[in-house]
Amino acid sequence: MNISEITKKYGFGFSKKFGQNFIGDEGLLKAIVDDAEVCENDVVLEIGAGAGTLTREIAKRAKRVVSFEIDRDLEPILSDVLRDCDNVEIVYDDVTKWSDEEIADVVGGRFKIVANLPYYITTPLLFKFLCGKFDLVSATLMVQKEVAERICAAPGTRDYGALTVSVGIRGKARLKRIVGREKFTPAPNVDSAIVRVDTERKYDPDTLVALDALIRGAFAMKRKTLVNNIRSAYGMSATKARDVLAEAGLSASVRAEEVDEDGFMRLCAAIREGRTDK
Ligand code: SAM
Repeated sequence: MNISEITKKYGFGFSKKFGQNFIGDEGLLKAIVDDAEVCENDVVLEIGAGAGTLTREIAKRAKRVVSFEIDRDLEPILSDVLRDCDNVEIVYDDVTKWSDEEIADVVGGRFKIVANLPYYITTPLLFKFLCGKFDLVSATLMVQKEVAERICAAPGTRDYGALTVSVGIRGKARLKRIVGREKFTPAPNVDSAIVRVDTERKYDPDTLVALDALIRGAFAMKRKTLVNNIRSAYGMSATKARDVLAEAGLSASVRAEEVDEDGFMRLCAAIREGRTDK
């Protein structure tokens, strides 16, 4: 579908504030739905219907689609583009104003997320949906390329950091494809990528809280060693910090960006158990 034509037909003006960069390329729309592996029994939550091009592609393959759209000015376009899709419900509202319970209610059970996200709310939305309170199978998201690279980075690489580990403890993240800026109307200033996170309940809620605190502390100061960051975060002596690292099988000179998820889990357990002396 030609985005310029349909938006012109309805006199629609793109809003930068809402991150409105739409996709019309049929091949790309199909590829995103392929990446999400949407099937006929799936309920899909989309954030940001835009001109409804992705919504329509999802609706062809899913049982039901619930799509949030903050901008009421898109209503005439969406009514036109989605006129044949009786399995789509558009919620004209700001998704960030909805509680977890309200969203779970409108979706009504197990679901997948597929979204070309407005970039200004990517990270809060990602963590909102990965909080463990939803019956979420996976989230297939168009995000800024740099964010995708950070989410999917390997330990020891430049992009590996708090975002990587925080997502990694909640699911398996995969970078599915890079999408050039020219694929959007209007074209943004950055390239994008599709990331898919398959949720996994590896840790109980208390462990997740402890791991989040550890990750925040461990990456607080990039140039410091893990021992020093742990000392500051937990108010430990140098000896105790070295002991908990040793207990977790980590060297005293290691930096947080070299430690994989298992390493953080072992370190978290060592800190929580407080097996070593102060
Ligand atoms: N899905 C469409 C596509 O792929 O062409 C549009 C994607 S566009 C990047 C993001 C959409 O999210 C815009 O239509 C914007 O109005 C909408 N949006 C922005 N902030 C929102 C919010 N807080 N709640 C719901 N929708 C929002």
